[in-house]
Amino acid sequence: MTATSVLRPDVVVVGGGPAGLTAAAALAGRADVLVLDRERATGGIPRHSDHTGYGLRDLRRVMTGPAYARRLTDRALRAGAALHTEATVTGWTGERTLAVTSPRGRYEVEAKAVVLATGARERPRPARLVPGDRPAGVYTTGQLQNLVHLHHGSPGTRAVVVGGELVSWSAVVTLREAGCATVLLTTEHPSPESYAAFNAAGRTVLGVPVATRTRVVRVVGKGRVSGVEVEDTATGRRRTVDCDCVVFTGDWIPDHELARSAGLAMDAGTRGPLVDTALRTSRPGVFAAGNLLHPVDTADIAALDGRFVADRVLDHLAGGGAADPRGVPLVADAPLRWVAPGLLRPGDPAPPRGRLLLWTDELVRVPRVVLTQDGRELSHRTLPWPASPGRVFRVPWSVVRRVRPGGGPVHVGLA
Ligand SMILES: Cc1cc2nc3c(=O)[nH]c(=O)nc-3n(C[C@H](O)[C@H](O)[C@H](O)COP(=O)(O)OP(=O)(O)OC[C@H]3O[C@@H](n4cnc5c(N)ncnc54)[C@H](O)[C@@H]3O)c2cc1C
Repeated sequence: MTATSVLRPDVVVVGGGPAGLTAAAALAGRADVLVLDRERATGGIPRHSDHTGYGLRDLRRVMTGPAYARRLTDRALRAGAALHTEATVTGWTGERTLAVTSPRGRYEVEAKAVVLATGARERPRPARLVPGDRPAGVYTTGQLQNLVHLHHGSPGTRAVVVGGELVSWSAVVTLREAGCATVLLTTEHPSPESYAAFNAAGRTVLGVPVATRTRVVRVVGKGRVSGVEVEDTATGRRRTVDCDCVVFTGDWIPDHELARSAGLAMDAGTRGPLVDTALRTSRPGVFAAGNLLHPVDTADIAALDGRFVADRVLDHLAGGGAADPRGVPLVADAPLRWVAPGLLRPGDPAPPRGRLLLWTDELVRVPRVVLTQDGRELSHRTLPWPASPGRVFRVPWSVVRRVRPGGGPVHVGLA
């Protein structure tokens, strides 16, 4: 292919993870669909997440990440979608035209609709502004799992895992499989952010020491990491933990470069593109789905976004589904960090699975969710499940009531 080659599918999906593959499978047969993914195989993060826990809500079964990635790829192919791997979308050359670079050459894809499903990543050590040396042996969970499961490399023998989310325990399991002991798991929170059952199993079955209210203040090592300095945030006391591997886990950011370079309206909370409940971005015919919108939720939720967005894309292809211009922003108030979707429009459908997705920075065991607009309470609801840092807090769509289309932003808070 040359720089002038232009492919013209009805729909181009950027990102062949659970969201993109599921959207493609739902669209194929009803539209001509092309999925572009920069990796050598489609499947997204589950490809290298070699443990069970995937597929519950979308496929109604539980399977390992690699098996799940293969299953979603097969479904998209069998439905008739075209999948291009090693195809990196590097930018836009038109409203819905993408520039693609692959080992086969450069080409453009001009589509009637674009679905951005580029996912989210853990912020690496430099982005977290952790001082100290810059040695080898410092990873995110994604990098660690790539090293161990795709490249069969060795991460080291003694690891410190930074963070206490579900993904942090996933890192511990991967380290264990690679023959590397986790000598400490640190979290700044009073207890690890993961589910209590995971924390208990991690401490007892896996024998991992956990330091709560602790932060990493320095990475030490010339050439190879030799330790990390950790600080007890309550007392200020510091100590150095010997290790030859550090894994920074969680602390997610959407893979939002394409959304930003398109000049799409961005959501200041999620840092992904701003979407309404039909998952439309600010550019007509450009939609988004998956962890790009909610960093991060589980893979089945990303997949169900993909299934949901397919119908909105078909509406668009049929000439309908235009956005009502009277959009009202939805804003998360502290301790909530973000809410997705972030825009309410009259006449739009409920969001995927009839849930608003939120992220909290503090544990609230019995959360009372309150919605206000222009200083007036619209609704409130006490939920029987906690709002916990490190995982998505789901709120039934029924809390969104009595919103005035011409009014100010709707605030979502916890009383
Ligand atoms: C270590 C770890 C363990 C996890 N464990 C579980 C679990 O047990 N169960 C569970 O349900 N979930 C788990 N998750 C979460 C799950 O992996 C994600 O929710 C899911 O992968 C999100 O799907 P997605 O399609 O939104 O994004 P992704 O899976 O991130 O896929 C995005 C795709 O977009 C591609 N892409 C990005 N930019 C470009 C570009 N410019 N051009 C071309 N392609 C591009 C990427 O290559 C990637 O394939 C885990 C996550 C991690 C990191």
